[in-house]
Amino acid sequence: MSVQVSEGLRGPLVDRHGRVHRDLRISLTDVCNLRCTYCMPAEGVPWLARENILTTDELVRAAEIAAALGIVEVRLTGGEPLLRPDVVDVVARMAAIEGEQGPLEVSMTTNALRLPTLAGRLKDAGLTRLNISLDTLQREVFHSLTRRDRLDDTLEGIDAAIAAGFAPIKLNAVAMRGVNDGELTDLLRYAVERGLELRFIEQMPLDAGHVWSRPEMVTGEEILDALAQEFMLTELPGRGAAPAERFQVDGGPSTVGVIASVTRPFCGACDRVRLTADGQLRNCLFARTESDLAGLMRGGGTDDDLAQLMHTCIVGKLPGHGIDEPGFLQPDRPMSAIGG
Ligand code: SAM
Ligand code: SF4
Repeated sequence: MSVQVSEGLRGPLVDRHGRVHRDLRISLTDVCNLRCTYCMPAEGVPWLARENILTTDELVRAAEIAAALGIVEVRLTGGEPLLRPDVVDVVARMAAIEGEQGPLEVSMTTNALRLPTLAGRLKDAGLTRLNISLDTLQREVFHSLTRRDRLDDTLEGIDAAIAAGFAPIKLNAVAMRGVNDGELTDLLRYAVERGLELRFIEQMPLDAGHVWSRPEMVTGEEILDALAQEFMLTELPGRGAAPAERFQVDGGPSTVGVIASVTRPFCGACDRVRLTADGQLRNCLFARTESDLAGLMRGGGTDDDLAQLMHTCIVGKLPGHGIDEPGFLQPDRPMSAIGG
């Protein structure tokens, strides 16, 4: 497959606020083998109809057009991306796409459960970077938080990623009051001992149950205060468009990140755009509208039509998510269906 985008449409994806978009998050599926309380209800959510999920050819076409518009990194997510049966093929085909600065960089966010079987094949297929979610090291907490008794499988998955040679591997932990806020230093010690970069994330209002509460949220400042009880943290400069503020731990080389999306939003430097598993383009996690890329593709849209839709979607991006402002409305789709 090789897409044909006219010269006039090839420029970068720039919004009205001058932000240039280089990072495309693609959700490969909305289904998951965990039920994290901050993401899904116990019974799951009504799954997308199978026929509405983008095929691999459609995903590759979307990524090729995005690459022609300046996207340099594709992050595969979900739902749980490793539950897509042809995930290795998707990675290989994405990694073969030529972007403006060479081959597309292909990364993934995963809960690690299927990494013991897939890590080596994903590395060989061209996956460069892995973010793995790990919120607790305690079996009982993991069980109640994810509603599945699978901490050991997650830890095995992390070991498999290390053994396969992925570097860097980042760990993501959502901090939750009364759940894992007593083990933030244990999580950092676990990461430091393995040479992994841990990033703590403020919980965002993206749960399917709509029970997020601002006062209940553990703030980035509280996270740093807790870590400072045991570690010496030195802030690192040069955050750029990255969501995490990074700190050197005990003089380095280990680092820890804090993603304070709510209390210290980084919308001004955002370079991300998202494609849901059913082919809807979203210019923000918290967008209230979507652009129907799947409908256009399946209705016979040309590559130029699709490129134009991407530009129009980005131009309409709002300056910020406004979570901390009165009148904020949570998106209708939960995180698992948007693609985190
Ligand atoms: N299933 C994969 C996983 O858990 O890594 C990929 C999808 S998951 C939606 C992507 C990331 O979003 C995970 O790191 C998860 O912790 C994070 N996430 C989900 N819901 C969240 C919320 N309400 N607030 C903050 N982060 C959230
Ligand atoms: Fe699944 Fe990831 Fe959502 Fe947890 S955060 S339920 S692992 S999609």
